[in-house]
Amino acid sequence: MKFDLQKLVRRNIRGLKPYSSARSEFSGSAEIFLDANENAFGSPAGDGFNRYPDPLQTQLKRRIAGMKQIEPSQVFIGNGSDEAIDLLFRIFCEPGRDRVLICPPTYGMYEVSAAINDVAVVRVNLTADFQLDVDALAAAISPLTKLLFICSPNNPTGNSMDQTTILGLAEIFPGLVVVDEAYIDYAKRPSLAAAIDRSPNIVVLQTFSKAWGMAALRVGMAFANRDVIDLLNRVKPPYNVSEIAQQYVLRAMEDRSWVHARVNDTLLERKRIESELCVLPVVVRVHPSDANFLLIKTTDADAVYGHLIRQRIVVRNRGSVELCEGCLRITVGTSDENTLLIEALRSFRPAATTEVRAAEAKGE
Ligand SMILES: *Cc1c(COP(=O)(O)O)cnc(C)c1O
Repeated sequence: MKFDLQKLVRRNIRGLKPYSSARSEFSGSAEIFLDANENAFGSPAGDGFNRYPDPLQTQLKRRIAGMKQIEPSQVFIGNGSDEAIDLLFRIFCEPGRDRVLICPPTYGMYEVSAAINDVAVVRVNLTADFQLDVDALAAAISPLTKLLFICSPNNPTGNSMDQTTILGLAEIFPGLVVVDEAYIDYAKRPSLAAAIDRSPNIVVLQTFSKAWGMAALRVGMAFANRDVIDLLNRVKPPYNVSEIAQQYVLRAMEDRSWVHARVNDTLLERKRIESELCVLPVVVRVHPSDANFLLIKTTDADAVYGHLIRQRIVVRNRGSVELCEGCLRITVGTSDENTLLIEALRSFRPAATTEVRAAEAKGE
């Protein structure tokens, strides 16, 4: 399949003249900046906060590119990876006409972004063992299908998708294959970021929200060939990543040992609770995970969820999701948190009748 990026882009975006900020028009060195209507006297928040941040996050991109062994021109930085997802819809999907493919059960944002942009979603469920259904996907592709979202490791199932399968799909898919790697730091397999040189229609999403522990800062990444990155840069709000976020992420990247150590802790804890969970009477099955959470099938998702809530423990109830019947998604916590979780699950007793449950709820 010949991939033609220009044909894929919405017409209004093809002809878009992007907003040109004061900071992006001037690139020499100067001492007096009277170009952006900032507050020249300073900021009550602290030094430097009166100036607009670098719209193209040059320094941060250079650091990220170095770490990922790609070019800075192949890096987009967004206000969370959710921003990149939304931008891909706005750049490539004509509202009311185009479609995207998703593989449920998967991350909920793809559907929400599609709905906001008035783009139809075609769902091709994962197979019973949570892998991509290649034949069904191939059959679902139409000339109007602009994006194919593949989440790997997948949320909420936790497993990674087969890489050869993803690369094969990119070969036959005329649109962009978006590989969401939010949990890649916990996975046994390497990132597909290395594939963007060979596959012009692969976009890899990663984030600082999970293994890097900076969800509050809202910094996500997209890696793709430079033409796709150019489009993302043209359509994004000019100052989409705050100065604070850029500074703190740069600082965090100076010492990667923290991330390595915490990923290690998470994997050890995941292994421990996996073995402790699977012997509990309430647990039917613990699905294998390549992420920092476990999807467990229980005897009764609603009842177990309610029981945990009464112990002041919140997990994600996925029981109403197709292929996840009876399932809860549990984030790996600290050792103490996990121990309390296991104890709470051990103390679960199925209520014989609804009256008992109602009485329990009243605290009787
Ligand atoms: C958590 C998560 C993200 C992260 O989104 P941010 O906007 O970067 O915080 C992206 N994709 C998936 C599948 C996730 O679970």
